[in-house]
Amino acid sequence: MAELVPDYFSAGWRTRALACPCGWEGDSRGMAMELHDQVTDYACPQCGNLLLIVTHPTLAQVRQAAAEGQAEAIEQLAIVEEARRHFPSGAEGRDG
Ligand SMILES: [Zn+2]
Repeated sequence: MAELVPDYFSAGWRTRALACPCGWEGDSRGMAMELHDQVTDYACPQCGNLLLIVTHPTLAQVRQAAAEGQAEAIEQLAIVEEARRHFPSGAEGRDG
């Protein structure tokens, strides 16, 4: 059964080793990543079994994590704000 990570910026999910029933064992960097609209799936590279589901952060979560000094959040926030400057009507209003 896949493990759900509700908070993208929570520590440790990237490097936490998970075991697949097929015998494969490893962390997210060794898994097959699939990007979706709301989540990113990580599946076993050996049998395709879904192991990890990471929900994408909302803009509020990115801001919060950036305020707490998380380097990745600060980077993402910069990208978002850069995009907003170029496309002011674009990503507005979807997740606050
Ligand atoms: Zn497997």
